[in-house]
Amino acid sequence: MTTQSQTQAASAAQPFILQGSERFGKSGSPHPIYYPGDAVTLIGEAYYADDLHIEVIEKTALQGFQNFRKTTLKERAKILNNLADRLEAHQEALALLITRESGKPITLSQRELVRSVAVCRGYAAQVERCTSTLMQVSGREVRISRFPIGPVLAITPYNFPLNLVIHKLAPAIAAGCSITIKPAPQTPLTALYLGRLAAEAGYEAISVVPAQNSLSEKLVRSSAFAKLSFTGSAGVGWHLRSIAGNKSVTLELGGNAAVIVDDLTEPVESLAQRIALGAFSFAGQICISVQRIFIQEALKDALLPALVSATRQLKVGDPFKVDTDIGPMISIQQVQRTRSLIKDALKAGANVIYGGNTFNAFTMNPTLVDRTTPEMAINAQEVFAPIATVNTYQNFDTVLNTVNKSRYGLQAGLYTQNTQKIEQAYQTLEVGGLLINDIPTTRLDLLPYGGVKDSGLGREGILSGMDEYTYIKTLIQA
Ligand code: NAD
Repeated sequence: MTTQSQTQAASAAQPFILQGSERFGKSGSPHPIYYPGDAVTLIGEAYYADDLHIEVIEKTALQGFQNFRKTTLKERAKILNNLADRLEAHQEALALLITRESGKPITLSQRELVRSVAVCRGYAAQVERCTSTLMQVSGREVRISRFPIGPVLAITPYNFPLNLVIHKLAPAIAAGCSITIKPAPQTPLTALYLGRLAAEAGYEAISVVPAQNSLSEKLVRSSAFAKLSFTGSAGVGWHLRSIAGNKSVTLELGGNAAVIVDDLTEPVESLAQRIALGAFSFAGQICISVQRIFIQEALKDALLPALVSATRQLKVGDPFKVDTDIGPMISIQQVQRTRSLIKDALKAGANVIYGGNTFNAFTMNPTLVDRTTPEMAINAQEVFAPIATVNTYQNFDTVLNTVNKSRYGLQAGLYTQNTQKIEQAYQTLEVGGLLINDIPTTRLDLLPYGGVKDSGLGREGILSGMDEYTYIKTLIQA
């Protein structure tokens, strides 16, 4: 059924933005963006930059940097707070746009807005990290300061089309860099909206250039950029790093997050609800979605039925309704890929406990699978879909090793009251973050966030993000 919000008229084609201005922003025909829940409702159109624009993109990135690096810390903090104010003023329109472009349930889109505002304000409070440290070393006066790294190129995914762009934009502003954002092809309108708000907030050193991947690769190779900050899939991320030359690279990539339930640290129903939400909200299209559930053998009889019941209670359907947990996937191809993953697992001996089928052509039902092996794609690959595998274990050492037998290492969750086990897991698990008595699908924007192994390189998050956008210069005076 078509809803009011979904059929809202498409806005005029959006020009791309070069250094806060839209004057160069049209070429060729604009690209249509369709609502993923039916693939025919036109949400809007975006002009793409093409090869003819490379020179002007590079030039404006360099000029923007030369101008913006001279701003004071106070001015940067003011811009970040201005941007937060503007995001607040536009939160309703932006949340709706996120849902229309990505199919994200509206409540999650609204939450993304709240987080984005907090990230801007958080970085505003952090700009002071760019001040200097003074000390005496071997009888000399020493000053250690952080300097802006230079023009930043940011390439971003569709699943958090606002907050993950802001996790690159805000530290670039705080550090004194210019930024050129290449948004995901599915969600350019949200990034262009943000670009206009940032320019209005006083940050002219921003470009937002939707583009084909071939052009993006040329920008990645370009020596005009000092920094590549990429969020997306592992294959693309590591490839881009290999062609990025000597620029600094941050990669925020995929995962197959595990949650270990060693203790029922809360009532089994609420624990099961939390895990089901972590696995299935936004159709599992979150880099830290719960993909692998490990249950202590003795808890299986209590937890498994609760998990099935919690999964059954999730609301699948129209993402514009406030009680929907699982809406459409980003494309029909992703639905097909999800079905193939389940089919292949079944062929190899796995068993579907719940779901396994589609809700409609664009939407998968949440799916719980057991009797899997670590080698099956459903465990070993990032599914990025509403599928979670259920595994049992007897021995704590063994389950930690099984969790580590993965090319990925983004986050993990552990339910236990046992402090020794908490410490053992913290020392042993090869991940960027460990959540105790919570699911791994929790990200606190203030804290360092990122992965190890194939899941990435470097850290984002308000406390550490600016390190990636600055370099240290030491002054030594005899
Ligand atoms: P994706 O890798 O397909 O695309 C990400 C971006 O890279 C898009 O802008 C895309 O156009 C661009 N791109 C793709 N191929 C390219 C190429 N050859 N050259 C230059 N640019 C190219 O990812 P997606 O489907 O948009 O997002 C889902 C992925 O992102 C998942 O793997 C997910 O785990 C990951 N992700 C990671 C984090 C994190 O913080 N670790 C957060 C969100 C999403």
